[in-house]
Amino acid sequence: MNKKLLTIIVPCYNEEESLPLFYQAIKNLEGEGKLSAVDIEFLFVDDGSRDKTLQVCRQLRSQDERVRYVSFSRNFGKEAGIYAGLEKSRGDYVVIMDADLQDPPAMLPQMLQELESGQYDCVATRRVDRKGEPPIRSWFARKFYKLMNKISSADIVDGARDYQMMTRKVVDAIVSMREYNRFSKGIFGWVGFRRKWLEFENVERVAGETKWSFWKLFIYAIDGIVAFSTTPLIMASIFGLIMCLVAFLFIIVIIIRTLVFGDPTSGWPSMVCIILLVSGIQLLCMGILGQYLSKAYLETKNRPIYIVQEEDGE
Ligand code: UDP
Ligand code: MG
Repeated sequence: MNKKLLTIIVPCYNEEESLPLFYQAIKNLEGEGKLSAVDIEFLFVDDGSRDKTLQVCRQLRSQDERVRYVSFSRNFGKEAGIYAGLEKSRGDYVVIMDADLQDPPAMLPQMLQELESGQYDCVATRRVDRKGEPPIRSWFARKFYKLMNKISSADIVDGARDYQMMTRKVVDAIVSMREYNRFSKGIFGWVGFRRKWLEFENVERVAGETKWSFWKLFIYAIDGIVAFSTTPLIMASIFGLIMCLVAFLFIIVIIIRTLVFGDPTSGWPSMVCIILLVSGIQLLCMGILGQYLSKAYLETKNRPIYIVQEEDGE
């Protein structure tokens, strides 16, 4: 009987140090016979790295023909890397892993088993802690997930990693979502299917450093909200409505006051405060609107999600 093929997708951005370690880790696992149930294909996606990641890919390819790689013309972001990987993957099963070994390869056999059992289409993982992360970052992350689940219909789990193994069916479903603004955590939940969650404790990266600054994460969070919820738009409308009601009450109060007490023409400071408040709220709502509009604008351009500069392993 033919063995099933497992594609291991690894988005890499400046991972010259980690990538060889990652490859070795998988080889070790194979050496222990833990992945003997499947054939393996490596698919490294070099996301426009500025270091020697591409050379490392070429070298790994020359020593192991199961290695394929795609190299982007510039840095397109991890989401684009994941998309390219899924699109080019050929495996019956596909797993997405970080190059820094923060996604423990030791979980692969169990993930495989769950899929082989036929009970699940997708095995996802989540970290149960955020050890080694700045506390402020964890706090914001937790708040983000709470908020996100309140305002969006996509099922987004706190601590969920992109580390997950899925069947071809699921991969095809995800690849069919060709949106330009990709928020994988939302997309994975949105496509549905039977998902099993495995938990693990946070592992620190083996080498190199994280590519996520606080600011980048913040923008990512906003992109996620805009991509999977329209609640901010509704909030803006409700906000406007409340302001109108308040203004209406004020008008009535002022008319009555003028009729009863005459017109002393005071109230300049309160006027300034009101103008500032109302124009602030207007700008905020316009900003929210602008976020959605800008995303829609980018979508209509229909640009490719990534551009390939070099590729090997057809
Ligand atoms: N990555 C990428 N493109 C980017 C940023 C990151 O392909 O623009 C890859 C990176 O090489 C790594 C994975 O995404 O394999 C996760 O990145 P990182 O470890 O920096 O994120 P963290 O684990 O800190 O969330
Ligand atoms: Mg990492």
